[in-house]
Parts: sequence; structure tokens; C-alpha cells
Amino acid sequence: MKHTLPTLPYAISALAPKMSQETLEYHYGKHLQTYIDNLNKMIENSPYEDMPLEEIIKTANGGVFNNAAQTWNHTFFFETLTPNPGKMPEQLEAKLTEAFGSVENFKSEFSKTAIGIFGSGWAWLSKDKDGKLVISAESGAGNPMTKGLTPVLTVDVWEHAYYIDYRNRRAAYIEAWWDLVDWDKVAGKLLI
Ligand code: MN
Repeated sequence: MKHTLPTLPYAISALAPKMSQETLEYHYGKHLQTYIDNLNKMIENSPYEDMPLEEIIKTANGGVFNNAAQTWNHTFFFETLTPNPGKMPEQLEAKLTEAFGSVENFKSEFSKTAIGIFGSGWAWLSKDKDGKLVISAESGAGNPMTKGLTPVLTVDVWEHAYYIDYRNRRAAYIEAWWDLVDWDKVAGKLLI
């Protein structure tokens, strides 16, 4: 099974100026494409060749894991962005408030986790088997699915995600990223 570049649910210039067209051309068009190309090359004639991406992530290690997880993580990340973020669905607001005290507290804890990751990685909001919400930090290509969690939201804090628009200012990138989160999609992932 050949893995392919997912289609963005918005125009490549639609997230500007918070996330510029140039950032998307590199981050989506080049970085993500390269992970997918590497993955396809690595799994050819291997037991991973016809395995669903989630299964590869749960079973592989080394380069296959890294490229599979980066493919999944970026697809998830880009799919949960929108140029027209609506109001947060009430059910999602209620869940976040229940877990973190308030939506504001959740955002602050999540941002703190993302800013605190040393080097490249991803901050995640996931639900566990009992539906409890947890924030976690993963370095490199890490994905909470390997720990039995179901991802609900993520932010990419690799420098390639923000260096064109924000240089070294990771916190400014995260602050802008909040304004691009598609809360309907996040709610959809949480409530299934
Ligand atoms: Mn990235």
C-alpha cells in the first residue's frame, strides 16, 4: 500500500499570516512529502508494506517508526487546522473544563508543555481508555498511540514548523496556532 500526501482542507495560503504560504509549502509540501517518500521506500517488500499506518506506528521502530509516525502526526496536525475557527462546541468546552478547570487553564497547560519540549517534538491532548483527557509531550516523532492513548489534538514544535514565520519564537508560534485550531474536528475526535 502506497502512502500518499493528504489533501489540505484549505488553500495553501489560507492560514496566512499566522501560518504563511511559505511555511506550508515547506512544512506540508516538502517535509511531510519527504517522510511519506521515505516511508514508502522503507516498507517496500517488508512486512509493513500492506499494514495500516496506525499498525506500523504501534509495531515498528527505528526509521520505519519515525517516518510512519511523522506521516501520521503531520496529517493529523494539518487536518485539525482551519482559517475559519468557529466557536468551540459546548460538549468539548464541558470536557475540557471538567478535566482542566477551564478552557483557559487547558490552553495554558498545553502551551506550557509545548514550549517546554527540549528540541524537536509534539505536544498532545489525548484520551485514555476511560475517556480521561491527558496532555503529554513526545520528542522526535513520538505518538501517544504507542501508549494506548487516542490523540485528540496536537501541535508540532519542530523548528521547521515555525522558523520561517517566527524564527526562534516558539511561544509566539503556539499562540498564533491556537487561532487556527479547528474545534469542530477536535470535538469530533474526542466524542467518537
Ligand atoms: Mn513538522
